[in-house]
Amino acid sequence: MTYNRPLGQSLDGNMLKNTNPMEIGHFINGKYVKGTSGEVFENRSPVDGSLISLVHEARQDEVDQAVMAARRALKGPWGKMSMAERSAILYKVAEGIEARFDEFLRAECADTGKPWNMASHIDIPRGAANFKIFADLIKNVPDEVFDMPTPDGAGALNYAARGPKGVIAVISPWNLPLLLMTWKVGPALACGNTVVVKPSEETPTTTALLGEVMNAAGVPEGVYNVVQGFGPESAGAYLTSHPEVDAITFTGETRTGEIIMQSAAIGLRNISMECGGKNPALIFADADVDKAVAGTVRSAFVNCGQVCLGTERVYVQRPLYEEFIAKLADQARQLVIGPPDGKGVSMGPLISLEHRNKVLSYYEKAVAQGADVVLGGGIHSAVEKFPGGAWIEPTIWTGVKDTDAVMKEEIFGPCCSVVPFDDEDEAVQRGNDSEYGLCAAVWTENLSRAHRVAAQMDVGLVWVNSWFLRDLRTAFGGAKQSGIGREGGVHGLEFYTEHKNICIKL
Ligand code: NAD
Repeated sequence: MTYNRPLGQSLDGNMLKNTNPMEIGHFINGKYVKGTSGEVFENRSPVDGSLISLVHEARQDEVDQAVMAARRALKGPWGKMSMAERSAILYKVAEGIEARFDEFLRAECADTGKPWNMASHIDIPRGAANFKIFADLIKNVPDEVFDMPTPDGAGALNYAARGPKGVIAVISPWNLPLLLMTWKVGPALACGNTVVVKPSEETPTTTALLGEVMNAAGVPEGVYNVVQGFGPESAGAYLTSHPEVDAITFTGETRTGEIIMQSAAIGLRNISMECGGKNPALIFADADVDKAVAGTVRSAFVNCGQVCLGTERVYVQRPLYEEFIAKLADQARQLVIGPPDGKGVSMGPLISLEHRNKVLSYYEKAVAQGADVVLGGGIHSAVEKFPGGAWIEPTIWTGVKDTDAVMKEEIFGPCCSVVPFDDEDEAVQRGNDSEYGLCAAVWTENLSRAHRVAAQMDVGLVWVNSWFLRDLRTAFGGAKQSGIGREGGVHGLEFYTEHKNICIKL
C-alpha cells in the first residue's frame, strides 16, 4: 500500500474534479496500513464538495501500534545515530519534499482549497525548510559547562547532556497542514525523538505522503508514524491519553488545548500549545497608509482568513480612519476569489461547509449587534460555478462595539472590524483587551512610538510595519490563552530535549 492507494487512478489530472478518490491509510513502523476496524471517513474538497479520499480512522489498536513502534525506534538505529548522522538524514527529508514539490502542492491545495500561489510560496517550501533549519540548529546549540570549586580543592565539572524526551504526540490543524506539522516534527526528530502525528481530519494527505519521503531519506522505521482520524473518541484522544507518549505538542483551538492539557496531566507529560488568536492591528495617523492598507488586506484575508496570526480587529487613529476604510475596502474588493489553479486567484474557499456555517453565524451576529457592513457579509458567488464549495465573501465591518462577539471571539474567516481610536494609550489598552495574546501589528513611521507600543502589547509576537515576516530562528508562540511555550529556533529545541546534568568530581 502506498500513501494514497488509489481506488481508481493515482492523484493526478484535475484534482478539483476528483472522480477517483484515494484511499489513505496510517503510516506505522515505516509501512502504510489500513485500520483494523475497516472504518473510513470521507475527505471532501472545499472547492466543490467532491470526494478527494476515503481515510482510515485509527482506533485504539492502531494508536497502540504506532506509539509502540515509536517507542521501539527510540532505542533502535535512530537512538544510536550521532547528531550529525540524524541531521544529514533530515536534510534528505527536506530534499525529498523539494523533489516531490508538485505532488505536495497538489495534495495540499486539494485538501485545503488554498491558492497554488500561496502554497507554492509558503506551505511547501516551509515544509522543507522546517527540516533544514533544525538539522542545522541542533549542531550549533552550545551546551552549559560549569567548573565548580570543592572543599578538597580538586573541583568538579558539570556539563549538560542533551537527550530526547521520547515519544512525541504531534496534533496538528488544517490551515497550514504540512507547514505546521513539520514545524513540530523537524525539531522533534533533530533532537532524537520519535513521533506519532495525528493530522487534522480535514487535511490527511501531505502528512501521509511524507511517510514515503521519510522512507526514501533513510529515516528508520518507527521514527515517523501517522495515525489518521478525528479528535474526541478517535485517534486524537487515544493518542494524547496514551501512557507511552512522553510529551504532546499541539496546534489548534484553545478549547481543544484545554482538553488535551487534561490528558497530559495524567502521567505529568510535558505540553507545548500553539492556540487561537484575536489579533489587533494598530494603525497610527503617522503610518504609511498604503503600506498599512496592503499589510492589513494580507493579514485579514490571506488563506481565506484562516491564519492564527490573522488580523480580526483593526484600530485606526481617527484622522486616518475614513481614508483607511475606503482604501481597505477598495483593495479587498480586488481580491480574486476562486479555485487553487484559477488565474491570479488570491483567496480560496473556507476549509469546509461546517466551518463556513460557523463563520456565517458571526456574519449574522455582527449585523444583529448593530455592525455596518462595508464589504461582503455573505456567501460568495463562486458557489454558482462550484456548488458544494465553502465559498464566502471577504467582509469588513464598522460601527462595532468592543464587547460585540466579532470583537471578542476568534472567527477564523476572511473578515475584520475597523474601529477608530484617539491616542496611543487607548490603542494599547483596546488592542490588549482580549483573552488571546498571539500577535499584534503596529503601523507607524514614528520609531519611538513603535518601540513604546510594541513593549506594551501583551502578545508573543509584534510586527512593526509588516506582518508574518518570519525568521525561523526566532521564538514563536502566544501569551494568555494563545498558547504555552515557544516554538522556533533554540526555543523549539528546548521542548524536545531532556537535559541531564552530569557532575564529575575531579
Ligand atoms: P482544532 O482544535 O479543532 O483541531 C486541531 C487538531 O486537534 C486536529 O488534528 C483535531 O483533530 C485535534 N483534536 C480535536 N479535538 C481533540 C481532542 N479532544 N483530543 C485530541 N485531539 C483533538 O483546530 P483546527 O480547527 O484544526 O485549527 C484552527 C485553530 O488552530 C484556530 O483556533 C487557530 O487559531 C489555531 N491555530 C493556531 C496556530 C498557532 O501557531 N498559534 C497556528 C494555526 C492554527
